[in-house]
Amino acid sequence: MAEQVIHGLGVSPGVVCAPWLRFGTQLATSAQDPVGGTVEQELARVKDALGGVADEMLNRASRVSGVAAEILSMSATMARDPGIVAAAEKELAAGMPTAHAVHLAFEGFCAKLEALGGYMAERVTDLRDIGGRTVAVLLGEPMPGIPEPGYPFVLVARDLAPADTAMLGDSDVVGLLTSEGGPTSHTAILAKSLGLPAVVNCPDTDRLVDGTPVLVDGTTGEVVIDPTPGRRQAAVEQAAADKARIAAASGPGHTADGTPVHLLVNIGTVEDAAKAGPVDSEGVGLFRTEFMYLGKSSAPSLDEQTASYTSVLEQFAGRRVVVRTLDAGSDKPLPFLDLGTEENPALGVRGLRIGTVFPETLTTQLTALARAGAATGADLWVMAPMVATADEAAGFAALAREAGLHKVGAMIEIPAAALRAADLLAHLDFVSIGTNDLSQYTCAVDRMAGGLAQLLDPWQPAVLDLIAMVGAAGTAAGKPVGVCGEAASDPTLAPVLVGLGVTSLSMSVPALPAVRAALAAVDIQRCQDAADAACAARDPQAARAVAAAIVGRV
Ligand code: PEP
Ligand code: MG
Repeated sequence: MAEQVIHGLGVSPGVVCAPWLRFGTQLATSAQDPVGGTVEQELARVKDALGGVADEMLNRASRVSGVAAEILSMSATMARDPGIVAAAEKELAAGMPTAHAVHLAFEGFCAKLEALGGYMAERVTDLRDIGGRTVAVLLGEPMPGIPEPGYPFVLVARDLAPADTAMLGDSDVVGLLTSEGGPTSHTAILAKSLGLPAVVNCPDTDRLVDGTPVLVDGTTGEVVIDPTPGRRQAAVEQAAADKARIAAASGPGHTADGTPVHLLVNIGTVEDAAKAGPVDSEGVGLFRTEFMYLGKSSAPSLDEQTASYTSVLEQFAGRRVVVRTLDAGSDKPLPFLDLGTEENPALGVRGLRIGTVFPETLTTQLTALARAGAATGADLWVMAPMVATADEAAGFAALAREAGLHKVGAMIEIPAAALRAADLLAHLDFVSIGTNDLSQYTCAVDRMAGGLAQLLDPWQPAVLDLIAMVGAAGTAAGKPVGVCGEAASDPTLAPVLVGLGVTSLSMSVPALPAVRAALAAVDIQRCQDAADAACAARDPQAARAVAAAIVGRV
C-alpha cells in the first residue's frame, strides 16, 4: 500500500513512527442475551466483578503517582458505590441478563451526571469505563483498554478515558492518535505531561488497518500511514534532533536576539508547588487556588489559607508567583459556595463574580495572600479570574491593594475584556490571558465539547486578533501581558504569542523545555512576522501552517 497522509490537531509535540494498535473497544450487551442464575446468584457475580475492577484500579493507582493515581483511586471508589449495585439489582429483578443489567445501571448514573453538567458530566467517561470493565469481567472477555503487545506502538482511539490516559506512562505506547477530542481534552493534557507525541481530532483513523506502521507528528498534526523507509528514517533523525535541541536550552526564557520572555509554570496545590519548586523556571504564572478546595464542604479559614499559601510561596523565594483568586462555578463548582442552579453556568456567576455573592470569601483570601506574601521572600502577584469590565478590574484592584497586595492584575478570558484591555490596564499592574476560556467564549463553544474541537483551537484567527489587542494595550501601557492557558505550551504558537506582545508564558512543568528551546531559536522580528501572518490567515490550520513556515520546526 502506498503511503497516505492525513491531518488532525497536533496537541503534544514530537514525532514518532511505530505500528499502531486500536484501543480495546467496549463490549455490546443486549436485553436479548441469555439470562443466568437467580437474582441472588447473579447479584453476587456482579458484586465480585465490581470488586475485582475496583481492586484492579487500586493496583494500577499504586504503580503510578500524582494526577494519574488520584484519577484511578477515584475510579475505584466509583466501582464500590452501593448505588451501582442497587441499580443493577433492580434491573436483574426486572429480568435483565446480568451484563446488560450492569450496563443499564451504569448508563442510568451516567445520564444523571450528564444532566448535572460541568465537572460532574466530565466524570461520565470514567464511569462508562468502569461499567465496560465490569461487563468484560462478567462476559469473560478481554478488558477494554490499552493493548499490551510487548513492543512500542501508537495507540489509536476515538478518545481516551482519564483512567486509561492515566496508565499511558506505564505502557508501551509511544504516540497517540485520536479521531475525537480537542486541544484541552484529557488526552491532550496527559500526552503533553508524559511527553508523548499526540494528534487528536483526526477523523480519518477508521481507514487504518491493525499493525500498520504510522508516523505521528504531534508538532504539525500530520499523520502518515505506512510511511516509506526514507520518511521513517527522516522521522527517527528528526526525533533525535528535537531532543538534542530541547536539552541544550536552559535558564530564563528569551528569543534568539535576547528579548526576555518569562517562562513560568502552572500549579494547583501545595504538592504541585513542592514538585515545581526545584524545576528550572522563573516562577509560577498561574496558581489555580480553587484546585485546593474542590472537594471541601466548608470554606477554608483565614489561617488555613495563610498556611497553604505560605507553603507554596516558600518554594519560590526570590521568584515570581502569580496567584489567581478562586475561580469557582461552572466546570469547577466549590461545594461551600452554593450558587443554586443556573441554566448556563459558564455564562453565570463564576470567577470574580462570586465575590458579589460571597464578598467575605474574596476578602478573606486576599488577606491570607497578603499575610503569606509578607511572611515569605516570593515576588507575589495576585489576579482575578473572569473579569469582564474596567469597573470590575478597578473594584478588584481596590480590594486587593486595601488588603496589602502590591502587584494586582486580571485574567483576560472574556472577549469584552480583551477588546477593552487598555481600560482594564489603567487600573492594574498586569494582565494574563486565559486562552482556554477566551477560545470558548470567542467562538461560543463549550470547552468540554470534544466534537467542536476545531472551534476551540487557540489558533483561530479571531482569538489571535483578541490576543493582539491585549498585547498592544500592554505594550502601550508598559505593563506585562502573560498567557497562562494551554496555548502557552504549544512550541509553534509561543513565538506567535511573543510577536503579538506577550511578555510571559505559563504552562505545565513538562511543556516548558520545548517552549524555551523554540523561543531561543527565533528572533523577535521573526516572532512578529509569524504573528502578522497567522492573524492574516483565514482559519486555524492556515494560521498554524503559515506561522510554522516562518518560525521553522520548533
Ligand atoms: C484559561 O481559561 O485559559 C485558564 C488558564 O483558566 P482555567 O483553565 O483554569 O479556566
Ligand atoms: Mg479560565
